Amino acid sequence: MYIGLVLRVAAKDSLETRKMTTSQEYKDLEAKYYMQVVRRMPPVLVRGEGSRVYDNDGKSYLDFTAGWAVLNMGHSHPAVTKAVSEQAGKIMQMSNLFYTTPQLPLAQFIVENSDVDRVFFCNSGAEANEGASKLARKWGRKNLDGAYEIITALDSFHGRTQAMMAATGQPHYQDNWTPLMPGFVNVPYNDLDAIKGAYVEGKTCAVLLEPVQGEGGVNVPDEDYLKRVQDFCKEKNILFMLDEVQTGMGRLGTVFGYQRFEGVEPDVMTLGKAVGSGAPLGAFACKEFCSVLEPGDHGSTFGGNALTTATGAAGAQALLDEDGPGQAMRNGEYLMGKLNALREEHPVITEVRGMGMLVGVEMSEELSAGLIADCLDNGLLLNAVRPNMLRFMPPLNASTEEIDEAVEILSAALSKAAAGG
Ligand SMILES: *Cc1c(COP(=O)(O)O)cnc(C)c1O
Repeated sequence: MYIGLVLRVAAKDSLETRKMTTSQEYKDLEAKYYMQVVRRMPPVLVRGEGSRVYDNDGKSYLDFTAGWAVLNMGHSHPAVTKAVSEQAGKIMQMSNLFYTTPQLPLAQFIVENSDVDRVFFCNSGAEANEGASKLARKWGRKNLDGAYEIITALDSFHGRTQAMMAATGQPHYQDNWTPLMPGFVNVPYNDLDAIKGAYVEGKTCAVLLEPVQGEGGVNVPDEDYLKRVQDFCKEKNILFMLDEVQTGMGRLGTVFGYQRFEGVEPDVMTLGKAVGSGAPLGAFACKEFCSVLEPGDHGSTFGGNALTTATGAAGAQALLDEDGPGQAMRNGEYLMGKLNALREEHPVITEVRGMGMLVGVEMSEELSAGLIADCLDNGLLLNAVRPNMLRFMPPLNASTEEIDEAVEILSAALSKAAAGG
């Protein structure tokens, strides 16, 4: 016998979470209801504009994480806000069994500004890489006697699904979840010989790399590395795939990160983060010659729905109209110059490295426990991407005043840490 409706939850207006007013009330309820899988930073953020976000108490912070390399043209960009609200009032979601219109301008933007020919939209970076991996396996099945293995790099980050944990070459994303999905092998980054050594004829179907490693510590490869990997892939007829989830959409100073590297043209490219300008969106894209997925091979309920692609298309348009990539190039150089100047004052800084508006600051020792908290207190959001490394990924259009302000806050925090507190 089926039972009838059981009303477990009180009427919606009486839910505690709707009545909370203070940050502490929110945090207490979060601790009760939410899975504790992230160590959150203290502020409860309720609003953002440009490079700034505001907490529950009205305090402002420079967001030099850009919503995690997502809001490349800043928080609440007027064109994006307009597009998402207008689209929400028209149509948000249909199955991909039907045509909807906003998908196309964004697909066109990706194809016309890159070297790929076809796009498929999904919902996240991990899912984009999953799709690319399926495409690569099909390529191997059709052309390479069933080859299925994908070579990826140590210190990479490709997402947190079962397969992408195996692709991601970092033990702390893998150790608790063995056995890992077979079909991925992790080799040192920036080392073509390591890829050659891992290649097995009839087994390897593709190589998947980030143009610059983001989560792995802002690692910029030698300028000819990607091209040499590409040449090797061509020689072996395996796919050369680039994960542009973090580097795409202007961040490195070009629309797609690989365009900073001479002669590089991926067969397959994946996108996430900034491609949706704040809406949860991912994409994988390929050249015509390797467009091997056929009807029924892949799909997604939400992938590329009208709401997310309208949002992404408006963000992409803003990126073009306001020359986001050019701004990233200029502002990134300015930021790196300022950070390099900091090294004179703060010898604890051993290296400043990066490209465009993706910049890492490496220290000779682990960051002091108070450093990030101190920056936060003084109104700057930053990420410690490694125990001894800070990562800057500001909006591409952060102003020079905002960059100056951020570097001053960091400088003061470093001085305080050096003085022992
Ligand atoms: C963030 C990231 C991913 C994963 O994206 P999700 O949307 O979190 O699944 C994959 N690859 C790279 C390079 C990333 O930076």
